[in-house]
Amino acid sequence: MAGKPDPKKPDPKKPAPAKGQNPDQEAPEIEQVLFQGPLFGREANLKAHAKLVQAALVPVKQLISDAMSRRAHTIHMEPREGRVATRFMVDGIPVPAAALPGPKGMAMIQVVKLLAGLDPADRKTPHTGGIKVEFDKLQFHLMIDTAPVAGGAEKLRIKIENRKVVRQRPADVGMPDSMKMKIREMTSERSGIVLVCGPPDSGTTTLSIVALHCVDPYLYQVFNFADLHGRELINVTDFKPEPGHDLELSFDRILRREADVLFMNPLTSPQDAQTIFRYGEKVAFIMEIPANTPYEALTRIIEWVGIDLVLKNLRCILTQKLIRKLCDDCKQAFRPNPLLLKKLGLPPETTVLYRAPQPPPPDDPKAVTIEELCAPCAGVPYHGRAAAFEMLEMTDAMKEVVATNRTPDAIRRQMQAEGQTTLQKDAIRLVAQGKTSLEEIQRVFSSGAPKKKPIKAAPRPPGPPK
Ligand SMILES: [Zn+2]
Repeated sequence: MAGKPDPKKPDPKKPAPAKGQNPDQEAPEIEQVLFQGPLFGREANLKAHAKLVQAALVPVKQLISDAMSRRAHTIHMEPREGRVATRFMVDGIPVPAAALPGPKGMAMIQVVKLLAGLDPADRKTPHTGGIKVEFDKLQFHLMIDTAPVAGGAEKLRIKIENRKVVRQRPADVGMPDSMKMKIREMTSERSGIVLVCGPPDSGTTTLSIVALHCVDPYLYQVFNFADLHGRELINVTDFKPEPGHDLELSFDRILRREADVLFMNPLTSPQDAQTIFRYGEKVAFIMEIPANTPYEALTRIIEWVGIDLVLKNLRCILTQKLIRKLCDDCKQAFRPNPLLLKKLGLPPETTVLYRAPQPPPPDDPKAVTIEELCAPCAGVPYHGRAAAFEMLEMTDAMKEVVATNRTPDAIRRQMQAEGQTTLQKDAIRLVAQGKTSLEEIQRVFSSGAPKKKPIKAAPRPPGPPK
């Protein structure tokens, strides 16, 4: 387990600040984030709010630096019972950070808005903005969302995006080649619609961009109609509709430019959906639809455009689930028994799978704890995430099921009968590749709150469950 030094990981020898610790008293040695101005052409008027800035800029800087040094991808700040609770999300798992005194937490939320060029005084409406930052010599964008909560306060979400990590191509997210080739084929005839869906924060926008990059850019003309909030697409031409042109006029114009594939904003209205599904005979489309599962997406689109257009032009519905990857420095190999392999549907010749290091026996005080065993992951023992995919393909047999017996069970059975990729099946691919553990798959697919790490869980006090 000789760990390679990784400058992006926090130094494990430096203790992370304890839960509930005031960030003002944090050890000063963690790398500090540098704010480099708002995104989207806004201006930050710090001078007009000098008092606010003086009171809350340093704690904001420390909070964001702390989150980034722990690899958080999201920061939440939420007023609760007179305080402001802060929470980091690391690989999809919530990590509690400081609970701040109410006035200080609210001032920090206002300073974040100010840095993003938003009006700190307006707490009654939701706001969206962004901040350019540098951390550890790398460029990041902080995407800011606020929403009003009861009592005239507001909550804040900061999404941290690394500008150097571009996830656009199928290989960037580990999409299997077979799936890429299917999407390529589905969009190759200048017709057909590919929909992408998923629950919030499951990387749906990234997946829709990846689906677009399954198209061969050297053979096909691909245009982008979507507003991607500063994200730039590789090998794709942006298309700005003329003022006053509706979707139909814009599509007619783009078809004269021999467009093959169009990337659209997420579908939100039945009217747009109807236009797009009608044009789905003349040009291929790829876009998101707000729905948690392919079945939900299918039901919604049938409601919006009718069964006939769906049967005619829908090619597939894609979704993904992000699953934590085992830490490469401490994952343990084991030989799976034949029964387990059979249950998982893996080939009997599979000789090795991986799991998290086993916790030491609780009655041995001298045993090495998992935290001591692996410095690079500080005993988590997961690092980063990989995607498992699902693709509901509208084959002739599937169309028959959709037209006659559209229940979730019937569709799932048909997917299995045809060997279509499902989330569960694809997650087993990640286990077979040694990227994750069966325990992690179980955690992800047993719905509900993530379990506590067994080695750290305190005994539950007697009393009714909350
Ligand atoms: Zn580790």
